[in-house]
Amino acid sequence: MERLKSYIRNIPDFPKPGIQFKDITPLVKEPAMLRLAVHQLIHPFLGEPITGVVGMEARGFIFGSMVAWELGVGFIPLRKPGKLPYDVQSTSYDLEYGSTSLEVHLDAVDESDQVLLVDDLIATGGTARASCELIEKLGAKIVGCAFVIELDELKGREKLAKYKFHSLLHY
Ligand code: AMP
Repeated sequence: MERLKSYIRNIPDFPKPGIQFKDITPLVKEPAMLRLAVHQLIHPFLGEPITGVVGMEARGFIFGSMVAWELGVGFIPLRKPGKLPYDVQSTSYDLEYGSTSLEVHLDAVDESDQVLLVDDLIATGGTARASCELIEKLGAKIVGCAFVIELDELKGREKLAKYKFHSLLHY
């Protein structure tokens, strides 16, 4: 994990003063590290009856689609407002820096689905919590939530206390 961590670049004061932005691009550029991260994200969920993986725009798409590929299931994108062309369910929430909304297609999941939620990073947990609630509004079950990076001080995992939680790197 220390090796994986050495591929995360810290960018101070981006996108606003005071934010320590964790840049995953050095990690995803390195094939061995990318494979390691994807395998580690999946590990605790092997054996769970997962029918799909949900990822949030935009960096959640990178890890989420690879996790879906590895698990042999489909990928469900949660997108920023106005991007999805069909009928949507949407939710608004606060971020570490600002506020925003996410949308999902109404037919993306249903009561028969059990999904794993994947994102690059959990900060306050607002994005992940809102994403879980969005998926649950459509009737699907959240099997768990997996993140490459957790910003421990922001206690985002407390917002996901009712779900199985997994993160690889701590700051
Ligand atoms: P939050 O809703 O506060 O848990 O924020 C998580 C979302 O914002 C994730 O999709 C991250 O990609 C992004 N994010 C928040 N804080 C940071 C950070 N310090 N570095 C990189 N991405 C961040």
